[in-house]
Amino acid sequence: MRHFAVVLLFLCRCCAAGQNEPIQTFVIPHSHMDVGWVYTVQESMHAYAANVYTSVTEELSKAADRRFIAVEQEFFRLWWDTVATSSHKKQVRQHVKEGRLEFIIGGQVMHDEAVTDLDDDILQMTEGHGFLYETFGVRPQFSWHVDPFGASATTPVLFALAGFNAHLVSRIDYDRKDAMQRNKKLQFVWRGSPTLKEKQQIFTHTMDQFSYCTPSHLPFSNSSGFYWNGVALFPDPPKDGVYPNMSLPVTEETVQAYAKTMVENIKLRAAWFRTNHVLWPWGCDKQFYNSSVQFNNMDPLMKYINQNSKDLGVTVQYATLSEYFQAIYQSDVVWEPRGSEDFLPYSTEPHQAWTGFYASRNVLKGVARQASSRLHAAESLFARYRVGFPDGPVPRDWALERLRALRWAVSEVQHHDGITGTESPKVADMYLQHLSQAAAGVDELLAALALLPHSPEKTASVPGTRRRGEGVHILPEDCGMLMTSVRQPLERHVVIYNPLAWNATAVVNVTVSFPTAAVFDNVGKPVRAQIQRSARSNVTYDLFIVAELGGLQHRRYLIRFSEEKCSGGGCDWTYEAEGVTFERRNIRDGRKTGRRLLPVMNGCYELMFDQDTNLLHSITHLQEKRRVRMTQDFWQYDANGDIKSGPISDNYIFSANGSAVRAYEAVEMEIVPGRIVTEIRQRFYREEGDKDYTYSITTRVPECFGRRRPCHRLEQTCSLGPLHLNTEVVLRTSSCLRTNRTLYTDDNGYQMMKRTHRKFTNNTLARNYFPMVRAAYIQDDVSRLALVSDRAHGVSSQADGQLEVMLHRRLRNNLPWNLGYNLTLDDSSVATPTLWMTLGSIGVASQLGQRDAVELQHRPVVLPIDPPERSWQEEEARGGAPPVRSVVLPPNLHLLSLSIPGWNYSSDHDVHLRHVNSGEDLHPEPDYDRVLLRIMHLFEEGEDPELSKPVAINLKHVLQGIGEVKKLEERSLTGTWDISRLQRWKWKTADDLKTNNNSCRSGGEEPFTVTICAKEIRTFFVHFASGNF
Ligand SMILES: [Zn+2]
Repeated sequence: MRHFAVVLLFLCRCCAAGQNEPIQTFVIPHSHMDVGWVYTVQESMHAYAANVYTSVTEELSKAADRRFIAVEQEFFRLWWDTVATSSHKKQVRQHVKEGRLEFIIGGQVMHDEAVTDLDDDILQMTEGHGFLYETFGVRPQFSWHVDPFGASATTPVLFALAGFNAHLVSRIDYDRKDAMQRNKKLQFVWRGSPTLKEKQQIFTHTMDQFSYCTPSHLPFSNSSGFYWNGVALFPDPPKDGVYPNMSLPVTEETVQAYAKTMVENIKLRAAWFRTNHVLWPWGCDKQFYNSSVQFNNMDPLMKYINQNSKDLGVTVQYATLSEYFQAIYQSDVVWEPRGSEDFLPYSTEPHQAWTGFYASRNVLKGVARQASSRLHAAESLFARYRVGFPDGPVPRDWALERLRALRWAVSEVQHHDGITGTESPKVADMYLQHLSQAAAGVDELLAALALLPHSPEKTASVPGTRRRGEGVHILPEDCGMLMTSVRQPLERHVVIYNPLAWNATAVVNVTVSFPTAAVFDNVGKPVRAQIQRSARSNVTYDLFIVAELGGLQHRRYLIRFSEEKCSGGGCDWTYEAEGVTFERRNIRDGRKTGRRLLPVMNGCYELMFDQDTNLLHSITHLQEKRRVRMTQDFWQYDANGDIKSGPISDNYIFSANGSAVRAYEAVEMEIVPGRIVTEIRQRFYREEGDKDYTYSITTRVPECFGRRRPCHRLEQTCSLGPLHLNTEVVLRTSSCLRTNRTLYTDDNGYQMMKRTHRKFTNNTLARNYFPMVRAAYIQDDVSRLALVSDRAHGVSSQADGQLEVMLHRRLRNNLPWNLGYNLTLDDSSVATPTLWMTLGSIGVASQLGQRDAVELQHRPVVLPIDPPERSWQEEEARGGAPPVRSVVLPPNLHLLSLSIPGWNYSSDHDVHLRHVNSGEDLHPEPDYDRVLLRIMHLFEEGEDPELSKPVAINLKHVLQGIGEVKKLEERSLTGTWDISRLQRWKWKTADDLKTNNNSCRSGGEEPFTVTICAKEIRTFFVHFASGNF
């Protein structure tokens, strides 16, 4: 008691010196529920996640002032669909209505910010928002990004587009957070896009140093902080409800000590903010699974503080996040604006740079992006099919079920311990399994859909009638190509689909097992092709087919195989390419370079390879007539294996143990000159005498032909692994460009960020690593050297003119911690990422860069199909089946989404709310006629004199290849708001820029005509006249 009196005295002096009003504390009960990490989703549901929602629902009903925020929708939906009773559901609806249970973010997961692509971030939010709006009529308006490792500048833009009023982040550089805290600058108005600026600005709250967990140290107890429900138990919750490490109950004896600790903490934090409000998150990872105990202790503690608020100088109240932000908003403070700088990378301490996860689990990162591209293709094909054949033979619920499974799987892996590669091996396997299972389902759908528009009367390939064993599967490292999984017939029929709304002349690679092949299109015309032994296998062949496809168009092709030399029609059209092998060279022998150079040329470049090293020597950009000295090879960082000898690298952290060393001793080269592509295969051997190579680069130099075939893309597929333990391997491209170590990398594929090399007292190397989701480049005054990527990596420029991409890591160290959580990154896989390298003038490179990144992401899809009923000769006699009509957008606009979400809500919010409130399920059927369309302008303001301009398009005209547009409704990013009713909070800023949403548009728009300005993403519901084909 004496002790307590002293504290009161101390506290009162504080109040007197500070504000007169007590500090208003918003206690926000929450449970951080990782959709993955150490335990699988099923294990988490069983051990605690289901109990969170069951017990919180029951507890909220017991006292009107209690609150809770629900964050990760995947767990909530699983609970709602499989656990909740009708009485729970009734209670939840009531709590939501009263604002006591609030859905925050509303995405399926709390997505990672560094290595996710905006397509997937939007998808996972759309999935969650659709469910919440449909079920409760609510639209999340606040974010709670408490755990992603760093904060991207794209996230606030996406949240603003989704209609959010405020954003919240936590994990940013420790030193920067310190400074912001000291200077009361943790809150600001973020203008994440340099082009959209104040149009899509959003108030952002950075959590203070305590982050999202209640303080865990109690001076009077060994138990863990304010968590009376203890620690969640795996695999089963305890039968008696007694969990380990439950805190001392709040009683007459303990309440003062708890209050003292809490009030001290609140006061400490209040000093870091500009208003008199403190956000006090009450919770942490896996909390509130036993929430009766939790609330029953929180209630009396809070009551005690409020009864003594005059003395303590503090009031406390249960709150949702919106209640906190409302209070801040009403405080009328003028906030500092922040530009488009992001908070990447992220360090927690001088030696703890979280830049390793950019490259952890490369294979998972690749499979996730491949599945996302496959989904994108299937969505647009299904939307086309539904509009064209509303009564067609592919059952719509069967189709929607498959699409939803892949939407869910792609959403799930965006979790911040998912695609980041920071999860345990069994959780990584769970993501892979969900992705491949759902992708296989969608492939069945694609195969069924691809046939139909050519022959609507055909029913042979209706789902369920496909013969078993003829299914197709995505190979984990198959870069978007499909193979039949059974015996090869002498003929193969494929459909090639262009999922982009741009015309394309694409080279499509099909792996086959015959040395000779002839390819014909749907009317029997021979098609240009090239065949050669595969770079990756001695028993297969790569067949490159030149496919001419309009936007969103697909064509059928026939491939005829032969064991012998080809004879007869069509053979001249397939070039059989043979390789020339160059002797293996030890790196020691390559001291004198440039003596014996081998040129490989196409219409854009002359590449020189050095026969003394078998490495790239230079690239001449023919248009600019500039030769750039350039070499490319693999280097490795050796990670410290022992935590006692210094900082270590792990799933999250990259901590280089010195500079990188060459990862190989000798290089072999093979050149396969071709007429469609010329392949340069470089194989890197760890030791000169090794039988097998560990790394390789296969560079494909495209021949230029046709109007639309770009010759500037050098496709490079690398292969790495299995790596030695505790190594991290980079592909280093060193050029003579004078760049001062400045590089540019993308935030989520949406915008490029300038990364100037920064020097730190410690850890300079690792802190100059950045995420590369789709692209990175370096440039001097004249030329730009760019890489675009099919998955995320880490990237850095450690020397002038250098760009190094971390492609793979294998780590086994810090075993006591890692094994405790089963978080070793002992990844023995072989990774095969693909990059497109380009070199050119800055002007041309910026015209092409964004499009290249999109085109690599969404390459044509090859679908094996059953032989058609009519032979192609018959088709030819009939004049050929007309291909589906193309859908083409201008070059600076990208068709981000074209899908049928299948939501059942009314587009009219009032009507929908009446339905929700009536308690009747008036729209049980998914809406199959509402098409979700998103169009994105790819360019920043001023990036290109022509392409940056606003573009007006008439959607009725653009979409006529799909059907007749009847109605167009503009919506918010995730579809839940009618854009004309969306009024986001206007936060006051020091420069008080007046927001003008239409500043780039001149005058009103004609019906069906929309003007899309630089960097905008516009979302629509489109209704077509049905069955008009
Ligand atoms: Zn987390």
